[in-house]
Amino acid sequence: MPTKQSTNSPGSPPAQAQVVIVGGGVIGCSVAYHLTKLGWKDVLLLERKELTSGTTWHAAGLIVTPSESELAVEISTYTRELIKSLEAETGQPTGFKEIGYLQLACTPEWLEERRRMAVGARRLGVNYQEISPTEVKEMWPLADTSDVIAGFYTPEDGRANPVDFTMALAKGARMGGVTIFENTEVIGISQKDGRVTGVVTDKGEIEAEFVVNCAGLWGRELGKLAGVNVPLQAAEHYYLLTQPIEGVHPDLPIIEDFGRYSYFREEVGGLLVGFFEPIAAPWGMDGIPKDFAFGEINPDWDRMMPYIEIATERVPVLKDAGIHKFFCGPESFTPDGGPILGEAPELKNFFVAAGLNSLGILQGGGVGKIMAQWIVDGYCPVESHHIDIARCFRFQGTQKFLTDRTVETLGMQYQLIYPNTSKQTARNVRRTAIHEQLAKAGAFFSEGMGWEIPDWYAPTGVEAKVEEYTWKRQNWFEYLAAEHKACREDVILMDVTSMSKFLVQGREAENALNNICANDVAVPVGKVVYTQWLNERGGMEADLTVTRLAEDKYFIVSAGDFYTHDLMWLKKHIPYDAHAFVTDVTSGYTLMNIQGPKSRELVSRLTTADVSKEAFPYMTAQFIDINYAVVQTMRVTYEGELGFELYVPTEFSAHVYESVVEAGQGLGLKHAGFQALNSLRIEKAYREYGHDMDNLDTPLEAGLGWAVKFDKPGGFIGRDALLRHKESGPLKYRMVQFLLEDPEPMLYGNEIIYRDGKIVGYLQTGTYGFTLGGSMGMGFVEGDDGEGATTEYINSGKYEIDIADERYPAKASLHPMYDPKNERVRS
Ligand SMILES: Cc1cc2nc3c(=O)[nH]c(=O)nc-3n(C[C@H](O)[C@H](O)[C@H](O)COP(=O)(O)OP(=O)(O)OC[C@H]3O[C@@H](n4cnc5c(N)ncnc54)[C@H](O)[C@@H]3O)c2cc1C
Repeated sequence: MPTKQSTNSPGSPPAQAQVVIVGGGVIGCSVAYHLTKLGWKDVLLLERKELTSGTTWHAAGLIVTPSESELAVEISTYTRELIKSLEAETGQPTGFKEIGYLQLACTPEWLEERRRMAVGARRLGVNYQEISPTEVKEMWPLADTSDVIAGFYTPEDGRANPVDFTMALAKGARMGGVTIFENTEVIGISQKDGRVTGVVTDKGEIEAEFVVNCAGLWGRELGKLAGVNVPLQAAEHYYLLTQPIEGVHPDLPIIEDFGRYSYFREEVGGLLVGFFEPIAAPWGMDGIPKDFAFGEINPDWDRMMPYIEIATERVPVLKDAGIHKFFCGPESFTPDGGPILGEAPELKNFFVAAGLNSLGILQGGGVGKIMAQWIVDGYCPVESHHIDIARCFRFQGTQKFLTDRTVETLGMQYQLIYPNTSKQTARNVRRTAIHEQLAKAGAFFSEGMGWEIPDWYAPTGVEAKVEEYTWKRQNWFEYLAAEHKACREDVILMDVTSMSKFLVQGREAENALNNICANDVAVPVGKVVYTQWLNERGGMEADLTVTRLAEDKYFIVSAGDFYTHDLMWLKKHIPYDAHAFVTDVTSGYTLMNIQGPKSRELVSRLTTADVSKEAFPYMTAQFIDINYAVVQTMRVTYEGELGFELYVPTEFSAHVYESVVEAGQGLGLKHAGFQALNSLRIEKAYREYGHDMDNLDTPLEAGLGWAVKFDKPGGFIGRDALLRHKESGPLKYRMVQFLLEDPEPMLYGNEIIYRDGKIVGYLQTGTYGFTLGGSMGMGFVEGDDGEGATTEYINSGKYEIDIADERYPAKASLHPMYDPKNERVRS
C-alpha cells in the first residue's frame, strides 16, 4: 500500500504553464522530473485523484533488465540506476533491493532463445550469467529444479517500491520547479489550428504550449478528448500474496518461469507470485469507472486456478501456504506490446506516454527521460519505430479490436516468440481484393498492420500450416526455396497491397516534395525516384519511392508500417499555404508485383504496350492496358530482378489477377510471399527502413549516400546536418551485408557480429539466401576508435556471427553480393 505523503501544491492551479502533464503515476512524475533536468521549470502536473492512485500503487516492482531489444535494455538499465541514485538526490527512499534476477530455461527451445538473447544483452552491458540447475537450486532451495536445464542470472537486478519510486520522482520534480495538483481532473483539451493550446479542468482552464497525456488506463479516453487515437486497453493483471513461509527470506532472487507463466519474489516473509497467463481478460470495456482510485478488481478464481496450479509445481510449498491475498488490478496493454510514446500525429504539441504493458515501473525512468528530450528537442532521441505513437492505426482504437487483441498481448511477455510468429487474435481485419484467390493458391497468412499478409505458399495438395515453430528450418523452408528460385529463374506474383500509397498534387508539389526528399524529384514525368526523407539532424525518417505522374502530380509508395508516420510527415512539412495537397490512396489499389527474368514476357502477353527495355526502362512508370484494365505500372524491384509493379484499381483486381495467372502458364509463374521478399531483398542488400536502419542512422551510414543530392537547388530538410556529418571524417559505423560460410545455421536478426574476435555490432535482419547458399544478414559494423569504419577497415576484417553462443565464419561485403553491377534489375 502507498506510503502517503502530501505532494499537493496549495491553492488553485495556475491559469497557464508551458507544459501540462496529465496523470500522476510513475510515468507522469518521471516526465516531470526529467523536464526539470533539461531546464524546463514551468511544468504543471495534474492528477485526478492522488499520486500513484491509478495502476502504479499496486505494481510488483520488478526491476529486471535483460532483453533482446537494445532500446529496452537501455531504458530499463537507466531506470535501475536512477532508482538507486534518487534517494541521495531527494531524500526519499525508493525501496530498491538488489536481490538478483533469475530466469529459468526448462526446454531446449527456451535454452536456445535465452542463449541467443544472452549474447546481445551482454554486449549491452547486462551481467547475464548462465548458471547450472544445481546453482539454481542453491539459490532457491524451495524451487523444484528437476526440469531446469539452465538458469540465467543477473545479480544487479532486483525490486523497488513503486510508490516510493514515484514519490521520489515527484519530490525531485518539485525540487526542480514543477507544480503538482492532485484532485484536479482534466475534462477537456483545447486546441487551435491543429495545435494544442491547453486543458480544461474541473477547476478551470489552463493555457499550455505542451500537453502530455500520462493518464495510464485513462489515456485512450483522454486522447479522445483531443481527437487523438491512443489504442490501449486495460486488462486484469494478477499476483498472489501468501502468508509467511519458512525458508523464504528477503534476499531470495526474483525467479521468472516463463513456461509456468509466473514469477516469484519474497514479500513480508511470504511469496508474491505474479502471473502472465497466455489467455488474458480485458477489463473496463465500457470505460474505466469514474471513481476508480487505489482500486482492485474482484479476482476470477475459476479462470486463474489452472495457472496457480501450474505455478505451484515450481514451488511446491505453495500448496500448503496460506493465501494472504489474491490481487487483481488493471494495467493497460497495446496492440503490439510496445509503449505508446511521442507527439500525436493528429495534434501538434500534444504528447502521449501511456500503454506500458506491465513494464511501467521498470521502464518509467527511461521513458520519462526519452519523453522529456522529445518534448524539448522536438524529435525522438532513440530508435522510434517500436515506441512511436505514429506506428498506430485508427482501426486499432476500436473497442472490438482492443478487446480481441488484449487477450493475447498480456501473455506475450512470457511467450517464447519464435521468428516468423504472428498475432493470432483480431485477424482478418484488412484483406486485399484478391485475398480469397491467394488463399486458394495456398497462402499462409501472417498479420501486419491489420492486413492478412501472404507469408509463403504451400504447394498444391498441401495444407498451408506451420507444423512447429522452431529456431531451425521450418516445414515451409522448401516451399520458400521454390518461391525464391522462381523469382530468380522464372517469374513470381506477389501481393504487396499493404504498402502505403499517397498522392501529392498541385502547382507547388515539386517544390514541396523536393524540400522533403533527399533525392531530386524535379525529374521528367514518368520517372521513379528512390529517396529518403531526413529530419533536421540528417537521420532518416522514411525510405520510399516518389514517382512523377504529371507536372503537378506525384505518387508516393512507402512501407505499410509507416503509413501514419509518413502521412503525418508529409502534412507537417508541406507549408500550410502551399499549392500542394496530400491524398491517401492506399485503399484504392491492389499492388501486384510481377518479378523475375520472365516478367517482361508475362506482362507483354497481357498488354498492347511496348514493355521492352528501351520503351519501358528501369525506374520509370507508365499507364498500360492489362487486358480490360488500365494499370499504373512501374519498372522497379525490391527483389533484385527485372520486374513490374502493377497498381491495379481495386475493382479490377480479380480480373487482373486472373489475367496474370493465365498469362503465367508455361513461364513457371509461382505465387510468392513476404518471406521470399525478405530473402530476395537481403541477398541484394536492399535496406528495409525500421528494421535495418532507423531515425538515428543517416543515409551515409546506411550506404545510401548515392541517393542524396546535396547540390540540388533549394536544398532539403536535413541537408546541412548531413553535409556536416559527411565532412566530419570517416563514418563511425556502416551497413554491411553478411553471408555465413556454413550453409546450415539460420539467422533471424539480432545475432552478434565479431570482427577479428571483437564485437563490432549486431545483425539488424537475417534470413536464408537461397541463391547464395547460406544464411544472410545485414548489420552495422562499428569502426575502430581511430580510423572509423573505412572501406579498408571493413574489407580487411575477418568476421564471425554468433548464434546462441557459437560463432560461425561469415563473408562480409559493402556491396550487394547478388548482382553487384545491377545487370539483372536493368535488363
Ligand atoms: C498486478 C500488477 C503488477 C505489476 N507489476 C509490475 C512490475 O513488477 N514492474 C513494472 O515495471 N510494472 C509493473 N506493473 C505495471 C505498472 O504498474 C504500470 O505500467 C505503471 O504503473 C503505469 O504507470 P502510469 O503512470 O502510466 O499509469 P498510472 O499509474 O495509472 O497513472 C495514470 C494516472 O493518471 C491519472 N488520470 C487519468 N485521467 C486523468 C485526468 N483526466 N485528469 C487527471 N489525471 C488523470 C490517474 O488517476 C492515474 O493516477 C504492474 C501492474 C499490475 C496491474
